[in-house]
Amino acid sequence: MQNADPISEQVREVVQAVVEALRVPRPEEIPAPVAANSFEAHALRAEIINVGRKLWDRGYVDGNGGNISVRLGANYVLCTPTMMSKRDMQPADICLSDLAGNILAGDRGRTSELLLHLEIYRVNARARAVVHCHPPYATAFALTGTTPPVGLIPEYEIFIGPAAVAQYETPGTQAFAETVLPFVQDHNTILLANHGVVCWSDTATHAEWLTEILDNYCKTYLIAQQIGKPLMFIPEEKITEILALKRRLGFPDARMAPLEDTIPPVQPENPELEKLVRDVVARMDERGPCCSARLKLDI
Ligand SMILES: [Zn+2]
Repeated sequence: MQNADPISEQVREVVQAVVEALRVPRPEEIPAPVAANSFEAHALRAEIINVGRKLWDRGYVDGNGGNISVRLGANYVLCTPTMMSKRDMQPADICLSDLAGNILAGDRGRTSELLLHLEIYRVNARARAVVHCHPPYATAFALTGTTPPVGLIPEYEIFIGPAAVAQYETPGTQAFAETVLPFVQDHNTILLANHGVVCWSDTATHAEWLTEILDNYCKTYLIAQQIGKPLMFIPEEKITEILALKRRLGFPDARMAPLEDTIPPVQPENPELEKLVRDVVARMDERGPCCSARLKLDI
């Protein structure tokens, strides 16, 4: 038997270990029970519970109303259960669903509004969390089928801007879920006619922020109208400055081109590690076929 170069053997073992590390299953390949018990899932459940309490404290979720969901990897969604106050949730109450709405883990039935959340996730990859609730001032606008005017408060312009109103449909139905589809790309905040609001963002916490910003804006606008003086709108050139900032922050706005045009190219999962492996393999190639013949990297 031919003696192998011990250094080459050691390098090969290291590179093979790195290659194996690169082949660790990605979240979408992880079985549901493993995903349900992952560190990420535990952290997202805690965030959902915290967001639920904030919504309840704010008076945005009456009775068992409102629902929250968060994407877990590529194939799963964590969501609130049906028939439960958003104040009282425990980790075991949070459901794990697939993207078709099938429950895969959790002690309770999922929220009936998960269909609405899933439609948003289906058409907008930027949406990683969805909050639906019934904040009273924003819902008052939804009862009239109108949205508050823009151009009054910078924070509202940056985080939300022009809201949309989705037409009425019976809650919990697929038809209801699809009412938001015309608006999901250009609006992170949508009023649901005769019902409430739905907001999407990168996290549940940020989606909850949108509900606060929207409802406070609607409240302030309504109070300002009671003063009896004309409203002072932000000058157009200042709105342009706000929109430039908004573009840099990656928030959608119907007054700007769709965000899809500015999505940066997808980066490798771990570019530094992949470059290291390629460098090592290239050096082994320089030393001859004995070192790299068995290493066929597919990265
Ligand atoms: Zn509702």
